[in-house]
Amino acid sequence: MADLLKCPLAERERVVGKGRAQVIIELTKGFWLTLRRLFSAPITIQYPEEKRPSVPRARGLHRLERHENGLERCIGCGLCAAVCPAQCIYLEAAENTEEARYSPGERYCRIYEINEFRCIFCGYCEEVCPVDAIILGPQMEFSKGNPKDFIYNKERLLVPLKSKGELPASKDAGSRSSSGLVASPMS
Ligand code: SF4
Ligand code: SF4
Repeated sequence: MADLLKCPLAERERVVGKGRAQVIIELTKGFWLTLRRLFSAPITIQYPEEKRPSVPRARGLHRLERHENGLERCIGCGLCAAVCPAQCIYLEAAENTEEARYSPGERYCRIYEINEFRCIFCGYCEEVCPVDAIILGPQMEFSKGNPKDFIYNKERLLVPLKSKGELPASKDAGSRSSSGLVASPMS
């Protein structure tokens, strides 16, 4: 500005005139764009009444999968917890017995817990799982008012059995939380 004031009057008027012309050009472009959009279909949608279908590779809320026969896929190897960069997975494995078998392997996951509040949805847990037990599903709508409700225990993560009473239910699955928080049941 100081340099402009030092300029001869003609030069100053030339610069100011150039600036004014530029403003008029940009404003005209903006108004033209607005005018064109007035007559085209809106690209916004009325969420949550209207929803766009999620893309196939979207990473949403986790779920623990089962085998076709109802047994849990998770074998409690702990790889997902080890690889998680946000350290939001806590699990404890236990031995299957003849009386109570939960997974095909020697061990199953007695406690499995994810703090979805800390999760960054990187998908590493899904990629590293050797038995495709943990999946990031398409569910994106699980906002809660209380951070405690983001603690998803095994009970909430495990997909339900196709027929009830197919397999024995784990007595202590999801009953304890590593963080001392007790998660509310899945709604
Ligand atoms: S998606 Fe990433 S951050 Fe979330 S639980 Fe899995 S490994 Fe951890
Ligand atoms: S979810 Fe997969 S990686 Fe994690 S403990 Fe179970 S089997 Fe291992």
